Amino acid sequence: MDRRLDRRQVLRGAVAGAFAAWASPKMLNAQAGGARRVTDQIAVVDGGGSNVVAFAGGDGMLLVDSGAPKSGDQVRGALKSISPSSKVQTLFNTHYHIDQTGNNEVFAAQGAKIIAHDRTRAWMSTDYWVPAENRYEKARPKDARPTETFQTTGSMKAGSEQIDYGYLPLAHTSGDIYVYFKTSNVLAVGDVASPVRDPALDYFTGAWIGGRVDAMDVLLRLANDQTKIVPASGPVMTKAEFKAERDLMEEVRARLFKRVREGDGPKDMLEDGVLKGLSRTWKDPEKFLYDAAKGLWGHHNKLDPNVV
Ligand SMILES: [Zn+2]
Repeated sequence: MDRRLDRRQVLRGAVAGAFAAWASPKMLNAQAGGARRVTDQIAVVDGGGSNVVAFAGGDGMLLVDSGAPKSGDQVRGALKSISPSSKVQTLFNTHYHIDQTGNNEVFAAQGAKIIAHDRTRAWMSTDYWVPAENRYEKARPKDARPTETFQTTGSMKAGSEQIDYGYLPLAHTSGDIYVYFKTSNVLAVGDVASPVRDPALDYFTGAWIGGRVDAMDVLLRLANDQTKIVPASGPVMTKAEFKAERDLMEEVRARLFKRVREGDGPKDMLEDGVLKGLSRTWKDPEKFLYDAAKGLWGHHNKLDPNVV
């Protein structure tokens, strides 16, 4: 289909209200200006390889994550293509990583409030050490930092949409959150699901594989068979796909528990095939095992065989 025609149809629909043009079955898988439709009111926009979730059912827009650095113009263009009232009122950050917070300044300048977990703001507000790269990362400028934080859970309304959000302790960083568009049944989970990229454990913030499995269980209890689950990158997942990733992570957790308890390092584990026979492969298995082992050592009190 002609791309320009595509865009016109979407714009016409947007003028009529929200993402109406996308309701046509022919348009179901259409991509308009880097946006993938999830529901009539929710789209996933490409933020430089990371997913930006855009909700257009209230006054202006609400986003989950702002995309990677230098993707600001692309994200804003995509938002305009899906709704003429693309001014962002509220932005959630699922965690502090730059691929999720890279355009915070852009939307803060439009007057958006930025909501995140308390620990996400803490990580963004101080210089911190990046062990894998042997360097310090500078604190983010004040304009990029969350303006509103929470500890456990929160909820809000946007138009007629009920939005619930909550903390997922130590799943990928120390400040991961989910944002659940309850009325639309769309659940944004950030990097707590990783269908394409290697699952990552930011162990120096305290994240570890047991925390990841626990967080995935929390998300499975929120979801039902119709829930659309949006990870930080890659395609929108069904609950069954998400459950399969959770079960795989639990299998990896159980294998690593045993090996770390026996005193094996990441290299030994990899050479002994600790990740063999699983339904996914890793692009950098040694990095994953290194971070996972570090995380497990950080939670060594849970490795005791008598502790259930
Ligand atoms: Zn991340």
